[in-house]
Amino acid sequence: MQENKEKEKMQPNHESRSERSDNSAGTRTITSHESIAIVGGGISGLATAFYIKQFNPNAKITLFEKESVLGGKMKTVEKDGFLIEEGSNGFLSNKPDTLELVKLSGCEDILLKSSDEARKRFIYDKKLEVLPESAKDFLTTSLLSLKGKLRVLYEPFAPVKTDDSDESLQEFGYRRVGKEMTNVFLDAMVAGIYASTPSKISAPAAFPLVVKLEKEYGSLFKGMIKKKKKEAGPGGVLMSFKGGVSAFIEKLSQNIDIDIIKNADINTLQKDEKDFILQNENLKMRFDKVILSTPAYESAKIVKDFMPKLSSELDSIEYSPISIVAAGYDTLKHTLKGFGLLTTTRAKKSVLGVLWDSSIFNDRAKEGKKLLRTMIGGQRSPELALQDEKSLINSALQGIKDTMGIEQKPDTLYVKRHDKGIPNYAVGHIQKVEKIMQLVDEIDGLYLNSNAYKGIGLNDCVSNSKLCAKKVAGA
Ligand SMILES: Cc1cc2nc3c(=O)[nH]c(=O)nc-3n(C[C@H](O)[C@H](O)[C@H](O)COP(=O)(O)OP(=O)(O)OC[C@H]3O[C@@H](n4cnc5c(N)ncnc54)[C@H](O)[C@@H]3O)c2cc1C
Repeated sequence: MQENKEKEKMQPNHESRSERSDNSAGTRTITSHESIAIVGGGISGLATAFYIKQFNPNAKITLFEKESVLGGKMKTVEKDGFLIEEGSNGFLSNKPDTLELVKLSGCEDILLKSSDEARKRFIYDKKLEVLPESAKDFLTTSLLSLKGKLRVLYEPFAPVKTDDSDESLQEFGYRRVGKEMTNVFLDAMVAGIYASTPSKISAPAAFPLVVKLEKEYGSLFKGMIKKKKKEAGPGGVLMSFKGGVSAFIEKLSQNIDIDIIKNADINTLQKDEKDFILQNENLKMRFDKVILSTPAYESAKIVKDFMPKLSSELDSIEYSPISIVAAGYDTLKHTLKGFGLLTTTRAKKSVLGVLWDSSIFNDRAKEGKKLLRTMIGGQRSPELALQDEKSLINSALQGIKDTMGIEQKPDTLYVKRHDKGIPNYAVGHIQKVEKIMQLVDEIDGLYLNSNAYKGIGLNDCVSNSKLCAKKVAGA
């Protein structure tokens, strides 16, 4: 692998052709290397670049990133000795994708496993309670009434949906496991993963594997039991990186032999009979192939003049705002034995959840110090995510007090607002994405790949990037 750091550059302010040059009278000198542009330097863009080079080491790739740093939603900041994640804090090891990328790209030495003491998760509905992990825990938990539990146990006998129409997670949950289970467990879970609510997200788009269980086995329980028997093996463990997710992004990008142009906010994509042309105020560059690894609304902006129909479809993918407030404590009595908590909508709290980061990964706070990270807003209360910094801090501290009883003022605070944080796969998302991909397929050499379409988790982003790279490289 070749370090590309010295190749990273600010955007050039001239027109250029990547890798091949135009001669006069229409004749072109074409090198044997295909020139490929990737717009967006988040995990989707970087993983796509990595896998294209795996499939075709000769590919000449230029990656454009709008910001001065790579990573997109994967960014770690250091404040007063605390390592604070602005977005994702890791990935589950039960899917092979991210782990494979980590190993192949030579980043295994910075892998960090979450602490075994941080396995317990909590839900705040009427009070803080442990998330049941076994059948026995489920029968004794007070998170559900007896009626609610009996309804869950009825699941194998609930009628199966016979048509292929889309439905919300709420409709799916009410049908299969009942209202109570949906309003407590599914509600908290979807807030934690998608910053959404059961009524506003499509079950097949957001949880395809769960929906598949009903289709294949006629019941989630039956399906889970059969699948477990078939795929016996360890469950997933949350993994991250020493120094936070930015350490991985930094190392990964250095280990891919590509040109990286930072501070390059690409505005437009055009195509003439020969090339794709990427452009902004300072640069104009020509390529054989272009991959847009940008959020859907940014891709909409880039293709607006070139493909207006595609642009308006992309623009209609909605995003949930979510804000993160990190609270660092130099001393805190609470033992923080666990992973953290999620709240339910009906609990009416000012936070979606509180992650006990210093318990999950041992390098996030210095010895004796503790770090909490609250999530605010989402589809449940978008207005809270969009508050000013002071109000966000108030919401965070109120949420910590209400759910964990901690009134102590933190010594360190850090706020990150993601006004368009996570794509919300609303009902109709799958059909919309099919339409989008059909439109894209009409243009030879153009590809879309980011978390906007077929999965938001890092594992999904990486596996979709590998698939995209295969297509691009013709592998
Ligand atoms: C608060 C939060 C917590 C999360 N936690 C987890 C978690 O714990 N585990 C997990 O698996 N997932 C988590 N996720 C989801 C996961 O982080 C994202 O889905 C994933 O990082 C998205 O990667 P991406 O490359 O597709 O998009 P992005 O990270 O959004 O990257 C897109 C990149 O494109 C750049 N860009 C945009 N427009 C332009 C332009 N015009 N020109 C050039 N560049 C442009 C952006 O600057 C950005 O770098 C979380 C997300 C959020 C917001």
